[in-house]
Amino acid sequence: ARVEVVPVIGSTNQHWLESVAGLNKGDLCLAECQTSGRGRRGRSWISPFGGQLIMSMYWRLEQGMAAAMGLSLVVGIAVVEALEAAGFGGVALKWPNDLYLNGRKLAGILVEMSGTAGGPCHLVIGMGLNLVLPATEQNRITQPWAELAELGDISDRNALVIALARGLRQALVRFEQEGIAGFRERWNRLDHFNGKPVRVLMGEQEIHGTARGIDEQGALLLELESGELKRYLGGEISLRGE
Ligand code: ATP
Repeated sequence: ARVEVVPVIGSTNQHWLESVAGLNKGDLCLAECQTSGRGRRGRSWISPFGGQLIMSMYWRLEQGMAAAMGLSLVVGIAVVEALEAAGFGGVALKWPNDLYLNGRKLAGILVEMSGTAGGPCHLVIGMGLNLVLPATEQNRITQPWAELAELGDISDRNALVIALARGLRQALVRFEQEGIAGFRERWNRLDHFNGKPVRVLMGEQEIHGTARGIDEQGALLLELESGELKRYLGGEISLRGE
């Protein structure tokens, strides 16, 4: 696979999205620093120099966009399991695709796609994993955050990238063959909020209940006080602890 390493870039995801015509599955773009790193719905992702593992991987699904449903959940599982194998255990998932350490955000995953009807789906799978954040940047983050240095020695970033890329490729190949269903149990086991009281935020609306993991399509399950089970598939919602 091709690996492009850049010191400073606006966004590795954006760069790879603009390059899809020349990319092959598994190609990686790595950066030391992003000047306009992004999260979901235009939110910004703080990626200061030297503080993070910033990585975007290109992938393609020949079946088109519809086949990508649930893919970002699979990415989360692959990253947590690769970290575990590399000696960084205890990382959990927050739906749809953040990595949590003791209830604080350790990494963000952002899957972006492009394509035309009837054509293949081009995917860029981006990840910003906090390694150790410079003190000057810490107060720019508006939510509780965590860094991998809390769990062990982070000096070998190359080994970490290789472990993550390998784990991702394997998971994506399996996802192509089996879809999300085969990953459900693993996701639910790694889910930070499973069984806990949560709030689901949808615009101005706030719904309270107990998180019950995901269903076989990857939808978030919320059990209301009445016992009714609600499911949320879409991206326009945010999950918060009580
Ligand atoms: P959700 O809608 O599930 O709440 P989110 O608020 O976690 O999503 P994302 O788009 O996943 O939003 O990520 C952007 C948010 O993550 C920012 O608003 C900020 O609060 C937080 N954030 C930004 N940079 C970092 C970082 N380096 N480490 C941890 N958290 C960060």
